[in-house]
Amino acid sequence: MRDPDCIFCKIVAGEIPAKRVMETEHALVFEDLNPAAPVHCLVIPKTHIPSANDFATVDAEILADLLRTAAAVAEKLGLAEDGWRLVTNINRDGGQTVGHLHLHVLGGRPMRWPPG
Ligand code: AMP
Ligand code: ZN
Repeated sequence: MRDPDCIFCKIVAGEIPAKRVMETEHALVFEDLNPAAPVHCLVIPKTHIPSANDFATVDAEILADLLRTAAAVAEKLGLAEDGWRLVTNINRDGGQTVGHLHLHVLGGRPMRWPPG
């Protein structure tokens, strides 16, 4: 469903502009507004799911679509062979700032570990 106050729901609806990269039945991919790497895209479900805390109740078809789309976008943008990172932040301690589930696809430079 949709949360009327959610910026990512507004991007799905086309009410806020975004640089769209890919779209599937359940997922939308767009460029992060404030990129943390040369390639930084967000893979989001088209329905409002707050975070990965909700995975137990989310349709498995949607979860599979999100993961497959993340891999497809990495392939499409030329990251697959050199490598890339898939991140989802959860709530306060995880550093989540937008309360609509999103998978960060990061690449184009070596990633550091551990993350901050
Ligand atoms: P997180 O901190 O994990 O919740 O990530 C939220 C991400 O959304 C950040 O990397 C922001 O730069 C990005 N972001 C916020 N608003 C927008 C927007 N309107 N379009 C694209 N990316 C956005
Ligand atoms: Zn939303």
